[in-house]
Amino acid sequence: MDTPSERITDKLWLGTLPSDDPLKTWGGSGSRFKCDGCDVPILPSESEIEVDMLGGRTLRFHVACDGLWRVLKEALPDRKHAPPPSSSL
Ligand SMILES: [Zn+2]
Repeated sequence: MDTPSERITDKLWLGTLPSDDPLKTWGGSGSRFKCDGCDVPILPSESEIEVDMLGGRTLRFHVACDGLWRVLKEALPDRKHAPPPSSSL
């Protein structure tokens, strides 16, 4: 069985999880949606971190998985491309 950190690392490599910086982060109680990190539903008794990404994508994480994602995406070997200069802002 994969640990959450292995799952999140795999997803970052596969591109299933973005390695961009989030636009906004919200906290709340679990909504029973699957965690984008470990694929386990986030129960109402747990805290859920909701992350808005550029392009309108919303990710949901357990608090622990959110922390892992933030650490692991920064720890990825040089895979990130520099974002193109934004001309549409
Ligand atoms: Zn999780």
